[in-house]
Amino acid sequence: MNVRVEDLTKRYGQVTALDGVSQAFPSGALTAVVGPSGCGKTTLLRCLAGFVAPDRGRLWMGDRDITYAQPQSRDAAVVFQSYALWPHMTVFENLAFALRLRKVPRRDIEQRVREALDLVELDRVPGIGERRPRQLSGGQQQRVALARAVVVRPQVLLLDEPLSNLDAKIRHRVRVEIRALQRRTGITAIYVTHDQEEAMSIADMVVVMEGGRVAQAGRPEEVYAQPKSPFVAEFLGSTNVLAAVMGPDGRILPSAAGSLIFRAEDIQLASLQEPAPAGSAWVDGEVVDVLFLGAGYRAYVRVGEEVIMADHRTPMPRGAVRAVIPLEKVFAFGRD
Ligand code: ATP
Repeated sequence: MNVRVEDLTKRYGQVTALDGVSQAFPSGALTAVVGPSGCGKTTLLRCLAGFVAPDRGRLWMGDRDITYAQPQSRDAAVVFQSYALWPHMTVFENLAFALRLRKVPRRDIEQRVREALDLVELDRVPGIGERRPRQLSGGQQQRVALARAVVVRPQVLLLDEPLSNLDAKIRHRVRVEIRALQRRTGITAIYVTHDQEEAMSIADMVVVMEGGRVAQAGRPEEVYAQPKSPFVAEFLGSTNVLAAVMGPDGRILPSAAGSLIFRAEDIQLASLQEPAPAGSAWVDGEVVDVLFLGAGYRAYVRVGEEVIMADHRTPMPRGAVRAVIPLEKVFAFGRD
């Protein structure tokens, strides 16, 4: 089901949490809403869920204007960061409760619960239905929360930082499972996260927010490769920002007139004797530190007053280097 907001605005006293947001969330796709803390992404999700009433603007799910609809009458389920499972109920009861509220016939409930647990791959955990939330790991609890959301077969799934209470390894696994579940069910999912890597790896579309507005929306590869503003370029990936402009020969020259933004993975470090190839930007500097990151190495290169990051597969020696970046990987913006 296509979800759409138009001119959505919400203020809390002096703070404008949403500032005229217009955005479509395509049917059957997973859209990640991403941005730094305070950019308004949770407020947007809460407006869609019906927990927050906007000051201005409208919301649609399919053809239905849901701007003033009660949360329970919207065809949407929410998964929170905190799982919000009922601690005194078993897993089975946690899932069955919502079905009973919706007057699903008793004979169907067991089957529906089993299917939902199967969807999140909890069906193989022995005695899962009889356990209480505290008898489960964090990852399992979040999977139960997901199952509880989809058991009512909503058209729209709203996820608010669903993985942030999990440790890194489990987080990766559960995010793959969320993606698989979304694909299998074809549900329209809107996924709020502050983690740009998580957003890009999981989503069909990313919406980058800044200060209550949409800074850019598009396919992850597109937004990553063609950021429209310094904010988006800086937000996505391990980026370097230099107050600089490019000379005619590609040399990067310090200047207050512009900023050049490029990513750590796009830099080649060469010796000062090697001329930079045509079609590249370059700057001379000094490797002052090298960190081992597991998959490779990150060099910190002093360039004038600033330090940039360069990632390599192999370790690099300290000392003078020429940092070379293909021109198409450099985003140049004017100061204003
Ligand atoms: P985070 O990642 O930190 O949760 P966010 O992008 O989700 O951030 P929101 O929670 O949407 O941001 O908040 C946007 C702005 O609105 C923030 O400045 C926040 O302090 C403010 N805000 C949000 N909810 C309320 C509230 N109930 N009362 C007052 N101010 C609020």
